[in-house]
Amino acid sequence: MSKKFKLGVLGNPIEHSLSPFIHSRFARNENINIEYLPFKVSNSDFELFIKEFFSDNASKGLNVTLPHKNKAANIEGIISNEAKYINAVNTISLDKNNLSLHTTDGIGFISDMQDQKGFSFMNKNILLIGAGASAESILYRIAKEQTSQISVLNRTKSKADRLIRKYSNMAFINSDLDIEKPYDLVVNCSSAGLTGEFKPIENILISKNTYFYDLNYSLVQTPFCRWALNKSDKVFDGMGMLVFQAAHSFDKWFSVFPETQNVIKDLEAMRE
Ligand code: NDP
Repeated sequence: MSKKFKLGVLGNPIEHSLSPFIHSRFARNENINIEYLPFKVSNSDFELFIKEFFSDNASKGLNVTLPHKNKAANIEGIISNEAKYINAVNTISLDKNNLSLHTTDGIGFISDMQDQKGFSFMNKNILLIGAGASAESILYRIAKEQTSQISVLNRTKSKADRLIRKYSNMAFINSDLDIEKPYDLVVNCSSAGLTGEFKPIENILISKNTYFYDLNYSLVQTPFCRWALNKSDKVFDGMGMLVFQAAHSFDKWFSVFPETQNVIKDLEAMRE
């Protein structure tokens, strides 16, 4: 029997995480023996949990989700430039007695949009709704993609302004809705998505080719996707990003990029 690697995802809440299912499928396909568990961890238990988890010889890595991604960027270890810049970590890997800290959310989104949905960011007009950790992970990546323009809208405008200041040397970014050119892509990075608090965006200029992408995902249609389906047939939720960010994490742990298509198909089948 090959060595069993201990992995998991920590967050709060964590009960409905699909990560254990996704990583178990990756591992089975790649013939790697893993145990991947969800861990509900409070803010006050975060540091102790990390220490205890990695004190076990069998432990290999962790995913980190809400509300711990910022805290994870302060763990002692070797942090990637990207994770340091955005101050968020969603993947921890134990390599030769050192913890390495990464973020795979941004690349997960890019992989899903480019490889799976055939979207090219070059010269595109993009609207991001939200200015939290996931919006920044996406902004970090798309700001390097030679987009035409990126607008960032957020309930708390000062947080959008902070992102605009931080990234305006990398791309043309602003906090006003474009009233001249339609958006090619509208991304909902707000966590209002699943709680029913999502408010439709008024006076948004779009075309019949506009893509709509909700980072939130669910086995039933999210409120953002329901709203967008009246406007476009290119409407997606964050299930693809979830699988791709997981695949990039798996690659960090085992240096193998797992097969994603069948896992996406299985998740899609659960919706039916
Ligand atoms: P953060 O907590 O960092 O940010 C939350 C954002 O949502 C903020 O911009 C906040 O605005 C906004 N928001 C929250 N409530 C409301 C509301 N009632 N009305 C309007 N705006 C609101 O979360 P993340 O950025 O990490 O995550 C955002 C969502 O993306 C989550 O639902 C998460 O599950 C999902 N996600 C999905 C991934 C995937 O793989 N598919 C990966 C990562 C995240 P304000 O600044 O005003 O508080």
